[in-house]
This record gives sequence, C-alpha cells and structure tokens, in this order.
Amino acid sequence: MTRSLTPARVASERPTEADWTAAVTALHRAEEVALLCHVSPDGDALGSLLGLQQTLLPLGKSVVASFGSDPFVVPPAYSELPGVDLLVRPEQFPAAPDLLVTFDTGSQDRLGALADRVHTAREVLVIDHHASNTRYGTLHLIDRAAAATAVLVEELGRRLGTALTPEIAAPLYAALATDTGSFKYAATTPETHYLAARLLATGIRHDLLSRRIWDQNPFGYIRLLGVALGRAVLEPAAVGGLGLIWTSVGAPELVAHGLTLEQLEGIIDVVRTAEEAEVAVVCKGDVDGSIRVSTRSKGEIDVGAVCSYLGGGGHRLAAGYTSYADVAATMAALRERLADAEYVGLGDEA
Ligand code: AMP
Ligand code: MN
Ligand code: MN
Repeated sequence: MTRSLTPARVASERPTEADWTAAVTALHRAEEVALLCHVSPDGDALGSLLGLQQTLLPLGKSVVASFGSDPFVVPPAYSELPGVDLLVRPEQFPAAPDLLVTFDTGSQDRLGALADRVHTAREVLVIDHHASNTRYGTLHLIDRAAAATAVLVEELGRRLGTALTPEIAAPLYAALATDTGSFKYAATTPETHYLAARLLATGIRHDLLSRRIWDQNPFGYIRLLGVALGRAVLEPAAVGGLGLIWTSVGAPELVAHGLTLEQLEGIIDVVRTAEEAEVAVVCKGDVDGSIRVSTRSKGEIDVGAVCSYLGGGGHRLAAGYTSYADVAATMAALRERLADAEYVGLGDEA
C-alpha cells in the first residue's frame, strides 16, 4: 500500500461564525455532555477537556468525562487539576452519548478504547488544532493555527457566556503552557500571551502548576533519564545529512524505575537539544511489547507527515506513532522514511 507523505489537510483553516454558533447551540441544548480526549493524554488534551468540564458544570449541565487509555492513568503532573476527581473510567463512559465532545484528537482512532462513541453518539463536536484532523465529527471547531486546543475552549466558554474562574483557568493554563513549550514555540502569538494573562488574572498559582508539570520528578525518573541519555546515538549522515539523534527506553527499565510511559514525556525535550541533529527520536517500550515513538524536528523536516505515513500523526515539528516491531527494525524503517522526507523548510506552523 502506498500512502501519501502529506497528511490530509482540512478544508477550512479556522472555525466560521456558523461553526461557533452551531457548537454553542448544541451545548446549550444538551442536558448531558460527554467529554473525551486522546489516549495517553498530554497537558493540552486533559487541560482542554477539564476546562470545558469546569465551564459546563456551573451552567447546570450533567458532564461525564474520560479517555480511552488502558491502564487508565492520569499523569501525575496533571492529577491535581480541578475536575480530575470527576473523571470516570472508560467502562463507565456512556454507551451512546447525546452530545460527545472530543479534544486535541486529530482522528477517531486516537480515542482508543472509546473510539466507537464517535458512531454511537447523536452529535459529535470535535475541538482540535491538528493540521491532520480528519473532521470525523458532526460539528467542528478546528483551528490549525491555534497554539493549543485550549485556545478554542476558552473562546467557546466566552461565547457560552461564562466568566473565567480559577477552576476553568488552571487546566487551560496547563494546556496552553505545555503545547507552546512554555510559550517558546512558533505558534505563540500576542493573542497567546493575552490569553495567558486572562487566565493568570483569575489568581491561579501558575508557579505551582509549572512546578508539577516540569520541575518535579520521582528519583527513578532522574536515574532513567541518565540511562536514556547515556545510550543516545548521533547519526550525522541520517535525514539526508541533516542529522538524527535517537535513544530508547525498554518496558522492563520503566518498571524497574517505578515509572509509567506517561512519565517519560520530558526525555525527548532533552534529547532534541542536540545541535548536530535536525530530528530527535525516543522509542519508549510499552508493557504490551509495542513501542511509542516520539519524534521532533527543528523545522526543516515535517515529522508529522513521516509519522502519519507510519500509522501515527501529529504536528509538523512534534509527532508520534506506535510501532509493533523491535527497536532496531523500528529505527530502520524510520531512518528510511526520514531519508526520503521532503525538505519543507521552516514553516509558520508549529
Ligand atoms: P509525543 O511525542 O507523544 O509527545 O507526541 C507528539 C505529538 O504527536 C502529539 O501531540 C500528537 O499530536 C502526536 N501523536 C503522538 N502519537 C501519535 C499517534 N499514535 N497517532 C497520532 N498522533 C500522535
Ligand atoms: Mn495532545
Ligand atoms: Mn494540542
């Protein structure tokens, strides 16, 4: 099968006024709203979901929220966000929701064990910023230029007529800060900072939120980071001579250090700083034998397209997929795709 290196581009780049009106009307009408974000949720997925949960509850809506990961684990960095205690396990998620809302999820399969709800729900509102979004809903709020899905959630809250509270602002801040790499990535605009300012004005403790997300790790993580960095390989000739750095962590090592896969998110952020490499890769072994592959590009290679080709997806500069081969075979296949990857040059999209 030949697949295109170019992910499907969305027809319209930003939500229209009609899209906003349809979303607001659907939420006002619904008595029960069911919220889902992608599996192995990151800050934007979980923060956007919790932001809308905390927006809808004061409106008297019945809200049920979950994600289809097995095991069902909320990453420790986000476990104290408002509303986490109200999340339900996937088994408790309604079989046929009236209104389903998905967050930060470019395609239905990223909903994991709960992906079938896209078909059983009466109405599906997709809120996302992935360029590769497949528009699998009945209603869409998709802005591929948005720095985070949370940007759309905050605007939706404003259009629903709700005022920002600390309970809404804390998860949205976690979402915005993580997806912009602490306001460093190219998608960060003056509007991103105005939004951050509105969120901080509610009085949230952004210092404590940030510490939980970036500056607090169990000792086992420090040790495993050392192991992963110690075995990093630099391949200057790879990626058409632009350079590749990669490393791997095995599932038994995870267990030995008392960690879960979700706690390894930060390794790639250290590995990708190697100035000799355009592309950085971390292979993370899961207990089921599969490998979660994280990729990052500095801007000249569209790793989102490469990962889409290999069965995953993501953004131009940050993307991933799941591999069912061993590390050597996974890297061989990835190396081959990266060698063929189109040179795209620094674009405007993070
Ligand atoms: P990660 O390396 O896990 O932080 O993922 C980086 C980005 O790649 C995420 O924000 C997602 O947009 C995307 N991504 C990661 N894994 C997958 C996958 N299996 N399928 C689709 N997109 C993915
Ligand atoms: Mn995400
Ligand atoms: Mn996101």
